[in-house]
Amino acid sequence: MATVAELQEKLRRPLAAELAAGCTDRVVAGGVEKLLASPLGNPFPKVREALAGYAGLDPAAREAALTQALELLSGRTRAAPARAAVRKAPPPAEPGTRLAVDAPVDRLDAGPGGARKLQSLGLHQLRDVLHAYPHRHEDRRALPDLSEVEEGQKVTVEGRVVSKHRRTPRPGMLILEVVLETPSGGRVKATWFNQPWVEKQLREGARLVLTGRAKKFGRSVQLGVEHLETVEAAQESLSTGRIVGVYDSKEGISQEFLRRAAYRALQAAPLDDYLPAHWRRQYEVTDLGDALWGIHFPADETHLSRADKRLRFDEYLFLELRMLLQGEDAVLQGKRFEARGEDIHRFEQALPFRFTNAQRRVLLEITDDMRSDRQMARLVQGDVGSGKTAVAACALYLAVRDGYQGALMAPTEILARQHFTNLVNYLGPLDVRVGLLIGAMTPKAKLEMQTRIAQGEVDVVVGTQALIQENVQFDHLGLAVVDEEHRFGVQQRRKLLQSRPDVLVMSATPIPRSLALTAYGDLELSIIDELPPGRTPIETKLIQDTHRTQAYGFVMRQIREGRQAFVVTSLIEESDTLELLAATQLADDLRVILPEARIDLLHGKMSAAEKDHVMERFRAREFDVLVSTTVIEVGVDVPNATVMVIENAERFGLAQLHQLRGRVGRGSAQSYCVLIAGEHTQKTRKRLKIIEGSTDGFVIAEADLKLRGPGELRGTRQSGIPDLRLADLANDAEIIERARELAKHILAHDPKLEHPRLQYLRSELQSRSQSVAFREVI
Ligand code: ADP
Ligand code: MG
Repeated sequence: MATVAELQEKLRRPLAAELAAGCTDRVVAGGVEKLLASPLGNPFPKVREALAGYAGLDPAAREAALTQALELLSGRTRAAPARAAVRKAPPPAEPGTRLAVDAPVDRLDAGPGGARKLQSLGLHQLRDVLHAYPHRHEDRRALPDLSEVEEGQKVTVEGRVVSKHRRTPRPGMLILEVVLETPSGGRVKATWFNQPWVEKQLREGARLVLTGRAKKFGRSVQLGVEHLETVEAAQESLSTGRIVGVYDSKEGISQEFLRRAAYRALQAAPLDDYLPAHWRRQYEVTDLGDALWGIHFPADETHLSRADKRLRFDEYLFLELRMLLQGEDAVLQGKRFEARGEDIHRFEQALPFRFTNAQRRVLLEITDDMRSDRQMARLVQGDVGSGKTAVAACALYLAVRDGYQGALMAPTEILARQHFTNLVNYLGPLDVRVGLLIGAMTPKAKLEMQTRIAQGEVDVVVGTQALIQENVQFDHLGLAVVDEEHRFGVQQRRKLLQSRPDVLVMSATPIPRSLALTAYGDLELSIIDELPPGRTPIETKLIQDTHRTQAYGFVMRQIREGRQAFVVTSLIEESDTLELLAATQLADDLRVILPEARIDLLHGKMSAAEKDHVMERFRAREFDVLVSTTVIEVGVDVPNATVMVIENAERFGLAQLHQLRGRVGRGSAQSYCVLIAGEHTQKTRKRLKIIEGSTDGFVIAEADLKLRGPGELRGTRQSGIPDLRLADLANDAEIIERARELAKHILAHDPKLEHPRLQYLRSELQSRSQSVAFREVI
């Protein structure tokens, strides 16, 4: 183990070099922020904070930030340097000044370092702050009279830590306890079960707001904590005594800060409504100001639901407007293929299996597109292992048979390699020349591959998206297949490659049809809703964490049989450092519980190359148990892994659990998924039971959407659809319909949104569009 001094020195040296070299952000490989984000930065949150947003600063501000960081590292501190004076940014507006919605967050009076914190969350303009809605709300209006709390009731209490206690009743079990004294002098014991990462927030004297389930022991109340916040006593509180929003955040950025920023933004912003009043009346939605105040700081439940309705309406409205506007541009000239039946037949003959009916149907849909002049833009959805890649391989074969080249693009190198192996298997015997292009290749090998592609000596190239898009001149590209892609704006996806090939997108995220049509309005949808025959379904078991040790006993038996296991630890809302800590702690725990197993770790702070490396080693059976944060969601095959253990399963969304479970069952052996649940509600239990009872992604997605009540509707982070933050597609059919109606009405009268009255609407639409290409459309 390195000492703190050694770690300090390790971090200090590159930073000093950066300062000496004139703050160019070139000295440290990958940049200063990358360095701080690495495990090296973990022990030094203050330094990390001082350098947050470094790349975006001007040289003078960089110098100031570095100086401060170096001082922190050398242990000397002095009064904070007048960094604000050094920075070139305009000064914050006087309190009470109005700002434009597109004003940079520098102008917002968000406290010292506030602008940088906001920027690091991707919030650059006032508008971004206004529209960064809480992902849920908590009722903290009346802190309950503890004597009247009922068993199992969810309560929020506020108070000061008077004592703290840590117990490990047996290996693998950790209980943290604090006694909290409330302002009225009452005392509550609060407990955390197997959540080592919260420990550092539990100082004696700290002021906490805790939400959790009450357990009664005679007259005393104990709280199983679900949510924890620390509050600064000095501030008049936006965090207590009201319905309080909980925001997406990260390390070093408190809920309190975000609430304050939202509050200031609401005060400063003009909040002019882009929807004219008569439409608001006709569509029965409240005005924008009321809605934005209501989503951040609702006066009561009705205010919140009014706000929610309006903002949701807007999300759909803008989405529909965008889709309708793009519609004009929708028929792009694409490639025209023969896609001969005999070639399909030949491809299938070479397979060791027959296509399923679902694959056959989807293939027909694809070949129809390929035969037409229009550019194909099709999304193929299907669970992991449903055979999407096999279908895509067939389409690529057809393109090649027509004299075109094909490309298959994956989000990571390891997936690219995996696809490459598969395509060589499928297409090699049919004399198709398949090439691989990934970053790990030597420059010479890359250049060689690029040349061969340019000269038409390679028929199908597999690689990471970036590499192919940026560095390859195809001879005559006809079909591009994109795997697992959600990050692209819609238009970008279609204009993907200059030569306008037909485009096929593959996704394993099961999205109900109603949702898919809205979210991917420009893509045709094909669904493979059937797994190839002969698969043994994964056996899933939900257990309470009191039986955790037994669960690992089972894991050990599988390992003794030569199998491997994944163990995934839960998301932590506010901190990726803490998430890393949790995973590390879990790995240590497992080394005690599973002394014979070889255990390694994968986490979100690793670079892509590091992750790939760990996965490669796991695949090569160099170790038995991979402990991981949720970063293993991507579709890597480890056929020998037969067990997926998910700790704190109650914290995951169903879609995510399903995705995680899909990591096993990739080989022929029976596979298992163990969901270990901590404290949870009846409702959560119902949700987890869905996973236990079904392995069909679409069934799960539908059931999940139905089960989620309006109060918990913010599951959209799972959908991966950036434009929809509030949307609850299963229950929003009516709102969607209304929004579409209004969108059509607007465009029917004013196809280009030119009327002065629609000026705000138009600029709002532009600024909400993620895709640059789209901004060019209007
Ligand atoms: P996906 O891309 O949807 O995850 P793949 O195309 O990679 O699925 O298929 C998963 C596995 O199933 C592969 O090993 C593949 O060879 C096999 N497979 C695909 N289609 C069939 C089928 N119709 N019958 C039997 N096995 C199949
Ligand atoms: Mg796949």
